[in-house]
Amino acid sequence: MTEANNHVVACRGGDATELEARARPQAGPGELLLKLRVVGFCGTDLFKLDTGAAANGTVLGHELVGEVAQVGDGVTGFDLGDRVAVPHHVPCGTCLMCRRGNETMCETFRENLMAPGGFADWVLIKARATAEAAHRLPDHVSDEAAVFVEPAACVLRGVVRSDITDDGIAVVQGGGSMGLLHLLVLKAARPDVKVLIVDPQADRRDLARSLDAGAVAEPGDAAVDAVRGLSAGAGADAVFDTVGGAGPLRAALALTRQGGTVVLFAHAPADDNGVGQAADFDLNDLFKYEKRVLGTYSGALTEQAEIFRLLQTGAFDPTPLVTHRMPLDDFRQGLDLVRRRAALKVLFTPSRAAQASTESSA
Ligand SMILES: [Zn+2]
Ligand SMILES: [Zn+2]
Repeated sequence: MTEANNHVVACRGGDATELEARARPQAGPGELLLKLRVVGFCGTDLFKLDTGAAANGTVLGHELVGEVAQVGDGVTGFDLGDRVAVPHHVPCGTCLMCRRGNETMCETFRENLMAPGGFADWVLIKARATAEAAHRLPDHVSDEAAVFVEPAACVLRGVVRSDITDDGIAVVQGGGSMGLLHLLVLKAARPDVKVLIVDPQADRRDLARSLDAGAVAEPGDAAVDAVRGLSAGAGADAVFDTVGGAGPLRAALALTRQGGTVVLFAHAPADDNGVGQAADFDLNDLFKYEKRVLGTYSGALTEQAEIFRLLQTGAFDPTPLVTHRMPLDDFRQGLDLVRRRAALKVLFTPSRAAQASTESSA
């Protein structure tokens, strides 16, 4: 029972990681034990590694699809073998933040409901996530699609808060996995919206075009011209910045129409003191031209449920964003691909040891 056969990617300080064998967790009352199917590598994981924010022994990873391997006492609605997508954070629903619609600022929301974390062969799902946020996947929703429930819910939160209308003009700065996820979520949630993708990399603009972006452009004057072309000169109703930092914020404001909204969707790079970079932009954009700048952080239950619904209807299909699949053993390789912008979405599958033992027991 205490056999150390749960292979996990353990943080080792700074950006160092190591595959480590630990004891497999056991599902207690109200909990589920999931056997990993796929786990997405997220920009937040990269940020935590790059900034050395993860303590020694931490297991990152939170975009998870697993198969039910053990059902804790009192859990209803799940059977052994069910495929499940589940987020790691769930708000309490009753505190002031939750009641005011800022569920992702809820103190309880911070608790990580996955143990040890998603980059593991076996992941324990704590009771609150099991009861309130776990989705059993129907056969027609693939692992590769469902792994996007959590990140796409974060994106949808920004789309909703931007107040963009169905016939709106949107710009997305950055054509990486998060930028292109914005494109796909926008097209699913607001089908008639026109989306301009801005990225300096030609292959990413080509991919955006193949995913039906209304227009693509390089940053700078080309982007300004393109948004004017789409909006009869007015500018975008909403600009979603997935790049982060003071320069991209100024660029976003320049693309936004009067009365329009900039949504910040990325960590600002740290300054020399380790604090997020300070912004400098013309405050009259806010006063005189009624532009709004807002940020959205993470996603709440309503956005997760809506994304799950859009996945089931087929309106939302993020699978073209998956460029790489590899076992947990090759974590460093996946990390390197994302750093070099040579991959869009990297998914990790169970460790080679876990795959071998599944084959021998099958
Ligand atoms: Zn994520
Ligand atoms: Zn709360």
